Amino acid sequence: MSRPQPTSTELNSTSEIDQFLNQIALRNPGEPEFLQAVHEVAQDVVPFIADKPIYQEMRILERMAEPDRVVSFRVTWQADNGEVHINRGFRVQSNNAIGPYKGGLRFHPSVNQGILKFLAFEQTFKNSLTGLPLGGGKGGADFDPKGRSDAEIMRFCQAFMSELVHYIGPDCDVPAGDIGVGGREIGYLFGQYKRLTKQFQGILTGKGPSFGGSLMRPEATGYGVAYMVNNMLTHKKDAIEGKICCVSGSGNVATFCVQKINSFGGKVVTLSDSGGFIHDPDGIDADRLAWVMDLKNNRRGRIEEYAKEFKCEFITGARPWQVPCDIAFPCATQNELNQADAEHLANNGCKVVAEGANMPTTPKAVEVLLSRGIALAPSKAANAGGVAVSGLEMSQNSQRYAWDSTEIDEKLQRIMAGIHEQCVTYGEPRGTEVNYAKGANIAGFVKVADAMVAQGIC
Ligand code: NDP
Repeated sequence: MSRPQPTSTELNSTSEIDQFLNQIALRNPGEPEFLQAVHEVAQDVVPFIADKPIYQEMRILERMAEPDRVVSFRVTWQADNGEVHINRGFRVQSNNAIGPYKGGLRFHPSVNQGILKFLAFEQTFKNSLTGLPLGGGKGGADFDPKGRSDAEIMRFCQAFMSELVHYIGPDCDVPAGDIGVGGREIGYLFGQYKRLTKQFQGILTGKGPSFGGSLMRPEATGYGVAYMVNNMLTHKKDAIEGKICCVSGSGNVATFCVQKINSFGGKVVTLSDSGGFIHDPDGIDADRLAWVMDLKNNRRGRIEEYAKEFKCEFITGARPWQVPCDIAFPCATQNELNQADAEHLANNGCKVVAEGANMPTTPKAVEVLLSRGIALAPSKAANAGGVAVSGLEMSQNSQRYAWDSTEIDEKLQRIMAGIHEQCVTYGEPRGTEVNYAKGANIAGFVKVADAMVAQGIC
């Protein structure tokens, strides 16, 4: 059977998308992840605005693809053995049309300007989807925390904040954690901010509960991913209960995602880190998960140790996508699920992929998943629970008040349900089939675009 030919409107959109992306590529050389993120949005948004001249005249998408500002700074710190080290720190402030810049800090040797621009761009759409007044930003440093002592981490965080302090503020830019930045690092960063400014302000989220942190913030991203999948399956009159799930990563997002999948009655059979993945066909139950959390948060060990402890397989240097599953949850990092992985998942009968990490699925893999009828929850929607509870942390800080876990969990569930609804509205539903990526891109765009139009040319 011959393939259907594209219509003339589709052809026009394609050439407009290409023209737009060529300009972006020329302006942002050497930043493949940023181009990938912009491409992924443009392919849905360019056709959507084709009959909406105001967004074109005001060049909204072009403006969104150029961050408000990017700052980079030197971070000099001293190791325990007296050696002096130099790292590069960044803050990318992408868009503040609907609220102060908001987005995490990543400490990882792979961090560079392009990766942070991609994350800040994505964050703008994600934050818009939450329905909260949050703009988009992201930051971090090419610092590798692995193997560093607590004292070294503290000195690095203090040096990093000594520069970052100039660019953030409770009504300007409120960073949070991301890869390599958890509760310990946020504590040290907050301490240094306070020391430098004498102000006790909500300038970071993910703080400890004793100094202005929100309950449920550590859980929020992982729980939110599971809530998103629960909403998607409920929409199809199905459920997580009884489903086999593959999760990658073993950090904050992955572990709390496993916890919520377990509470929905799913069975998680994999976890990973940069060394490889474990396959536990018996399932990672509450006790085993508690062991992993202690391993990662306190003993700072490697996931390989799980295989020794619980007598299961560890596959060195590989990702878990060849293991048969009903639902896949990539929760480690960008581009960790490629075309071949997507084909394995589809051949093994996987029905849903939910992106806990930011942009973990490569563009070719997305094509495979969609063409094979697998529902894909894009990171903008699926992992928005973290920033949503960060937004709630900011509200609590402003009120000088704290909600209890039940109240926050209810609000989180309501926000995730709202995100699901927006995806359905804009995601061209055909029966119960929804293009969630398209829905998230367009819904996220519209709110920011309308605010930018209202605020004039700036
Ligand atoms: P953590 O640092 O807690 O954990 C990251 C996990 O991913 C670790 O298991 C790590 O293994 C693994 N990992 C990191 N880089 C790689 C790599 N290049 N290859 C293989 N494995 C890797 O981070 P989070 O759980 O906070 O973040 C995970 C993802 O979720 C990121 O994409 C982040 O942007 C996204 N996210 C996080 C949010 C949050 O609230 N924390 C909110 C929204 C999105 P190892 O220890 O070996 O490096």
